[in-house]
Amino acid sequence: MRVELLPSSQPVSDRQFLVSYLVNDRVAIDAGSIGLLADLDRQNQVEHVFITHQHIDHIATLPILLENVYEPGPKSIEVLADPKVLELLHDDLFNGRIWPDFLALSTPDDPFLITTPLAAEQSIQRAGLTVTPLPVSHAVPTLGLVVDDGESVVAFPSDTGPTTQFWEYLAGVDRLRAVFLEVSFPDSLAGLAEVSGHHCTTSFAAELEKLDRDVRWIVVHRKPRYADQIAAELAALNLPNVELVKPGYGYSFDSSGGDSPPA
Ligand SMILES: [Zn+2]
Ligand SMILES: [Zn+2]
Repeated sequence: MRVELLPSSQPVSDRQFLVSYLVNDRVAIDAGSIGLLADLDRQNQVEHVFITHQHIDHIATLPILLENVYEPGPKSIEVLADPKVLELLHDDLFNGRIWPDFLALSTPDDPFLITTPLAAEQSIQRAGLTVTPLPVSHAVPTLGLVVDDGESVVAFPSDTGPTTQFWEYLAGVDRLRAVFLEVSFPDSLAGLAEVSGHHCTTSFAAELEKLDRDVRWIVVHRKPRYADQIAAELAALNLPNVELVKPGYGYSFDSSGGDSPPA
């Protein structure tokens, strides 16, 4: 499985303003920055976009992506999310004011997008991947995703504070290679992390104890203003198997290949 956290900025930097992952180029998780990819061929390769929740850093360029890849005809991107999130996307984004009502404008022969509801604990198969949504603990209902390509499993808990069900599920998953887990705030803002359903450095470290497995913990979603402070706090804890995500970097979780640096 190849996973890339798409960069939020050009030139590529470690600052993460938005959230989008590409998995094997055909599946996207969240649509924060994907519509900004300079390489339009890469946008065109995306067939399915899983949306974990409706916060703007996760959907910001969904309208731009759909606009960029639209061509007349029956082919279009599939957007998969909890039914409530699909409803919010229609009411608050594709509403004919913020952006054209792509749902009303879509016909079976000529859609701008196709929507598919996700349900917690109901696995769904797309593009050679089995994707299992599970609830996590964020300010709004959010589905973390567990992605299995038959060889490797990689987990994307999305935005969350301390949670349970996600880790209980992963405890029973063989072939788990990596977890992309957030740390949004430094410990000085632990209270803010708690009320907003995010991790600070200490709650992140406590979370690792819930999954007693030898996997790569890849830290994402550091708020740019606090990114250096969080990195310093993590370094001081000297946790095994913890690394900071590198946006634009091709992570490979197969037995065959190694990671590849940005092109
Ligand atoms: Zn969020
Ligand atoms: Zn977020």
